[in-house]
Amino acid sequence: MSGTLLTENATGLNFGLSENQIMIADMIRKFGKEHILPKMMEWDESQHFPVEVFKKMGELGLMGVLVPTEYGGSGFSYTEYVTAISELGKICGSIALSMAAHNSLCTGHIMAFGNEEQKKKYLPKLATAEWIGAWGLTETGTGSDAGGMNTVAVKDGDHWVLNGSKNFITHAISGNVAVVIVRTGEKGDSHGMTAFVIEKGTKGFSSGKKENKLGMRASETAELIFTDCRVHESQILGKVGDGFVQAMKVLDGGRISIASLALGIAKGAFEAAVKYSKERQQFGKPISNFQGIAFKLADMATEIEAAELLTFQAADLKNRGQKVTKESAFAKYYASEVCVRVANDAVQVFGGYGYTKDFPAEKYYRDSKLCTIGEGTSEIQKLVIARELLK
Ligand SMILES: Cc1cc2nc3c(=O)[nH]c(=O)nc-3n(C[C@H](O)[C@H](O)[C@H](O)COP(=O)(O)OP(=O)(O)OC[C@H]3O[C@@H](n4cnc5c(N)ncnc54)[C@H](O)[C@@H]3O)c2cc1C
Repeated sequence: MSGTLLTENATGLNFGLSENQIMIADMIRKFGKEHILPKMMEWDESQHFPVEVFKKMGELGLMGVLVPTEYGGSGFSYTEYVTAISELGKICGSIALSMAAHNSLCTGHIMAFGNEEQKKKYLPKLATAEWIGAWGLTETGTGSDAGGMNTVAVKDGDHWVLNGSKNFITHAISGNVAVVIVRTGEKGDSHGMTAFVIEKGTKGFSSGKKENKLGMRASETAELIFTDCRVHESQILGKVGDGFVQAMKVLDGGRISIASLALGIAKGAFEAAVKYSKERQQFGKPISNFQGIAFKLADMATEIEAAELLTFQAADLKNRGQKVTKESAFAKYYASEVCVRVANDAVQVFGGYGYTKDFPAEKYYRDSKLCTIGEGTSEIQKLVIARELLK
């Protein structure tokens, strides 16, 4: 089977963690203890997006993990990136989701398709979190069917005039810059869309309704609005008409980050469940002694391991510059479904306490669901996989 762990695509398996991965995981654990855990539930409750935390993460190199050092980034590979997001996801899904969106989507798009001038202008600011990035593809009427978008840009001399709105955009309010993909040609033409990079403060560019969400509540999700917004043609990323194709490539990488996020949430929920199952006594013994609970833990652990292998496989192929459309969809689809199952089982292990906010299981449970939706639903991942298989 092409593209799996056993193919000519892979150079071999390496299950060890590199020094960089160990260092990053350690750093994130310490950072989480000090800067995230004490306030996490407060942010979750009030839907507060803690910009200051991302600024600190910028100082640690976590907001430009994949950005080459010449542009002020950390210059790491996808392998370290998976470790960083999954480790953060264990602590707080919201912070990890925002980190993933900033790194993979906005920054990733500019890194992959910006010209030298655009890279020099934006990447150092994004990599250090001096600026927070947003990425707008989705619209109210077009989510899975993103190519059917209605936001348009019409050429006017050396400018383009944008009208319309983007929905469900991470960092739509707090973002300093956004990459947006809008229609510049005919509907139904995959070359009828173009990507623009637009700075906050540009006349006619504003943000709208903030969503009140089930989970990922400290990750800001809102609307981007364009009203006769004039943007110079120098703000186009790549060529006119390439926007949708670029977006699909950006999502190939982005899905590895959502798989990593799912992996992290699943591991966090699992570790909490294991710990609790050893402490909680019923019928005179720890509940982990009951086979009904122990088997649940065994299933959770097995699925997490499998999700981790798929995620690192996609990362490895990406590192080697190979096409990862199918492998990132494998990872995203499987890891996110596992994440929801594991988080659900974790609540069950906690019993009634899992249903309260005094214990961590309920937040993992609420946060987990986003993973099967964002950056392409599970159904869309299956479409992507099937399309690749049946080529
Ligand atoms: C917290 C959050 C953050 C987000 N951040 C961003 C962001 O930063 N930038 C951005 O551009 N977008 C973002 N999104 C949008 C996200 O990518 C979309 O929500 C997602 O792609 C699904 O689109 P939709 O919500 O319109 O669902 P729909 O497309 O309306 O889907 C509804 C249901 O129909 C199913 N369905 C649709 N088409 C098919 C089909 N052909 N076959 C089978 N089933 C199908 C779907 O799988 C789903 O179950 C975010 C969403 C959330 C919730």
